[in-house]
Amino acid sequence: MSRVVVVGSYNQDHVWSVDRFPQPGETRRGQAFATGPGGKGFNQAVAAARQGADTVFIGALGDDDLARVARALASAEGLDARWQTVAGTPTGSCAILVDAQAQNQIVLYLAANECLEAGHVQAQADAFAAAAVLLVQLETGLEPIHAALQAAPAQCLRLLNPAPVHARLDAPLLAAADLITPNETEFAELLARFAGVELAADAIAGCSDAELHALCRRLGRASVIVTLGARGCFVSHAQRERHRDSEDCYRLPAETVQVRDTTGAGDAFNGALAAELALNPQQPLRRILRHAGRAAALSTERPGAATAMPTRQQVLQRFG
Ligand code: ADP
Repeated sequence: MSRVVVVGSYNQDHVWSVDRFPQPGETRRGQAFATGPGGKGFNQAVAAARQGADTVFIGALGDDDLARVARALASAEGLDARWQTVAGTPTGSCAILVDAQAQNQIVLYLAANECLEAGHVQAQADAFAAAAVLLVQLETGLEPIHAALQAAPAQCLRLLNPAPVHARLDAPLLAAADLITPNETEFAELLARFAGVELAADAIAGCSDAELHALCRRLGRASVIVTLGARGCFVSHAQRERHRDSEDCYRLPAETVQVRDTTGAGDAFNGALAAELALNPQQPLRRILRHAGRAAALSTERPGAATAMPTRQQVLQRFG
């Protein structure tokens, strides 16, 4: 049983390069344009599938042209996609402007993603029955996420990538996960919300391991992996035995790569993590995370989101 089930969002990304952002009322000429699949859920599902895991993706589409594109992309990736079609609502889409300094401005319209229903998730009972790992994020409503966490069988490992931190995210949902994987911004938001701790996101990487471990443990029973961008990640366990690690907490550095576009690095990391956990369940988490970090680092060398995810072979060829 090496199956990964991902429940989450699909968006079509439209990316324009501009010399500078337009002012209100101004028209600027774009210098380049690209369109491609995105959405945290879909990106992570593609990342897992390209690492060789048998991957099911559960998400929602409108009944428009973008939905036809999404279906074709999912089947080209070999994903077992279980789409809910939402009549009268567009497929999710995202407008991204990137300026000459590589800063971005983003408009995200979640549309059909917000209509994903708990009932549609629960109807995929066959997928959950065979799931070794469930991976969810928070770019949909919370009901389907709760439903997925409940539908996963007892032995299935539940991964929650709390991105973005949802306004209605509650302690029971956090407690239903075995592993949570916030980036620094999301970790700061979780600490403020659930531990009453105000800590700037850019101060997190500078905390000592002992400080970070104590902060992570205030978020509940789940193991916490805080991703730290180019600084790698920090791991904190309540029950390290379950993850075959020899330490309660530790840091792992990131690989050094020629960074071109960090969009989707977290998605590459989460998808590869889910795939490795499903494919190599007896490995210590430390080794699994090293592979996930390598996949994420490679994704930053390519533009785009889902299309930037590396295959297992590419990760092994590059890093051995
Ligand atoms: P997010 O994309 O969700 O903000 P991070 O920026 O923390 O997430 O990145 C997730 C993981 O991707 C990191 O833990 C690291 O392994 C890898 N990564 C991100 N940026 C870089 C980088 N510049 N160089 C190498 N690896 C990176």
